[in-house]
Amino acid sequence: MRSLGLYIHIPFCKAKCIYCDFYSLPRAEGQMDAYVSALTAQLAAWRERTADCTVDTVYFGGGTPSYLGPDRLCRLLDAVFQSCRVAPGAEITLEANPDSAQDISALRQLHDAGFDRLSLGMQSADDAELRRIGRVHTHAQTVRAVENARAAGFDNLSLDLIYGLPGQTMTRWQANLDAALALAPEHLSCYGLKVEEGTPLSARHERFTLPDDDAQADMYLYAVDFLAQHGYEQYEISNFCRSGRESRHNSRYWALSEYLGFGPGAHSDFGGERFALARDLDAYLAGHTVYSERSAPSARERETERVMLALRTTRGVAAHTLPEAARRILRNCEAHGLAHLSGGFYTLTPRGFLVSNAILVDLLETMEL
Ligand code: SF4
Repeated sequence: MRSLGLYIHIPFCKAKCIYCDFYSLPRAEGQMDAYVSALTAQLAAWRERTADCTVDTVYFGGGTPSYLGPDRLCRLLDAVFQSCRVAPGAEITLEANPDSAQDISALRQLHDAGFDRLSLGMQSADDAELRRIGRVHTHAQTVRAVENARAAGFDNLSLDLIYGLPGQTMTRWQANLDAALALAPEHLSCYGLKVEEGTPLSARHERFTLPDDDAQADMYLYAVDFLAQHGYEQYEISNFCRSGRESRHNSRYWALSEYLGFGPGAHSDFGGERFALARDLDAYLAGHTVYSERSAPSARERETERVMLALRTTRGVAAHTLPEAARRILRNCEAHGLAHLSGGFYTLTPRGFLVSNAILVDLLETMEL
């Protein structure tokens, strides 16, 4: 049997955060029921093509999946079970915003239905910071969401944090990390704020005082150190966890394992083909399959990508699989404290992760020769 991951995209949010470039729509609640039906139909349409697969990870991401409400989410998860062979012990993650995880009986219903991992968009412990970036929750709601999730039976919780927020100081970031650890999550993702084109933050960025690159780098390096001291292993550029609590679903992406994405904007890598569905809810609801990307990467392209993705992780890449020119670049990085060779594997150091884009571009040029 082939191992498969499923990604289910839920493109609804209560409001749009100022930095967000995900495919998510505010004020579209009226389309939720039709969307659940469309997803159910798409899942059923894939039943035959996934007949030789065992699904060992399912990830409901968004948007704000929890905003759909427990009944719709349970119907969708049931559709997954009806359409695919889901392995016993599969990791089934639900992304949730704290404000839509306030009802303990709803969380219990989700846990009983099979969701076993909750990823909460905490982002900050400071209400002023949250308001500034357009988040609709408060820190008190994050605390309550974690308490509710624990009481509902979730023993695998992840918190997302963002550093480099408008006006954020190192002291404030340190306080956010302290507040996150006080909630004892099994997993943490820490992302640096990026000003993405087309977002309100990009349009109005001169109105915000953003920490500069050096300040962001200091915040990142502080987090790596601080989290290690508190028992959270870094296993990818932005991801940290208690031992054995890596996100199994996200790890598939970095290992180039197969996954299928459902919903507008979702990406897939299946049967040697890469494809993404257009970010067009109306077309999706009308049953049209519109691709925004579709390709069949060559063996050489996949090999290059394998190296690039492996270097995002702390597992790294086996030196003997690299061409000499790539090893030369990594030896040079090692001499500058940006990479490390251990047990025959090259990994980037935290300082190397900070400049990983530049390193990967150099490697890419070498590997494409
Ligand atoms: S909650 Fe997440 S997906 Fe929704 S607008 Fe904010 S950042 Fe985007």
